[in-house]
Amino acid sequence: MTNAARADEFWDALWRREREFMESGEKELRHGTSFVAVSTIAGQFYCEYKVENEFAFGEVPTEAKDQGTDLHDELIPFEPITEKQFAELVGRKEPSYAVLHVWGTVGGLRLVGTPDHIVWSEGRPLWLVELKTTRGDPASLWPDQMNQTLIYGLLLELMGFDCSRLKLALVRLRAGELTDEDRQLWMERVSTHLQAGTLAELEAEYRSAMKVHLLAHDRATAEASAMEKQGYWLGQREATSSESPGKCRACEYSSVCPKSLFRPP
Ligand code: SF4
Repeated sequence: MTNAARADEFWDALWRREREFMESGEKELRHGTSFVAVSTIAGQFYCEYKVENEFAFGEVPTEAKDQGTDLHDELIPFEPITEKQFAELVGRKEPSYAVLHVWGTVGGLRLVGTPDHIVWSEGRPLWLVELKTTRGDPASLWPDQMNQTLIYGLLLELMGFDCSRLKLALVRLRAGELTDEDRQLWMERVSTHLQAGTLAELEAEYRSAMKVHLLAHDRATAEASAMEKQGYWLGQREATSSESPGKCRACEYSSVCPKSLFRPP
């Protein structure tokens, strides 16, 4: 079989498996759900009770969330392409940029998500980049964001991609400090510096506005972090809640949450 025929077979099987996976969900998890978003698992590392509140009260919009979403769209613009175009694009030797939905079963949970940015070469993911905007210190590395990035890497591997050269980058950015030009060129610049190994230069350019946290793709650690949160979804235990009044103060559910350690005056 030629390499091209082997690649076609891989992609056909991948898209077929994805459709089967998405159709397979029984509503057997907590809250009658079939799938758990990787971002929700990540949120459990901040406070699991937020998930309870989200189902009880709905998602609460905040200014920071709205600004973060707008900025994501600005920094990482995308246009939809077909499965065939995706396979052709990421199959090239020269690095290409494209994201896809990631999915897979870990510890009985059907996980789904979409990373922010992936750099590919010859059908292999080289860099998975997750962007987080912050008003605080970009140098801080939080467990929720770290685990989200690790689990995306795990799902790429479970989907069957060769992840032997995969590295993960969690970029924390104080976006208010970016110029219009910075915003337009951001994705290209980050990708180029990641591949060239010149991150110090990039961080110096953005001064204190950006920190790139490099993480190793680590299947075992990523599996362990999903397993740590699995019992809640399988109904084996109740939700834990924050022990930090500071977290509750910053939480959009603090005025309605029965577990809140902070009450607004
Ligand atoms: S108010 Fe506190 S306990 Fe309640 S969801 Fe928010 S962080 Fe968790």
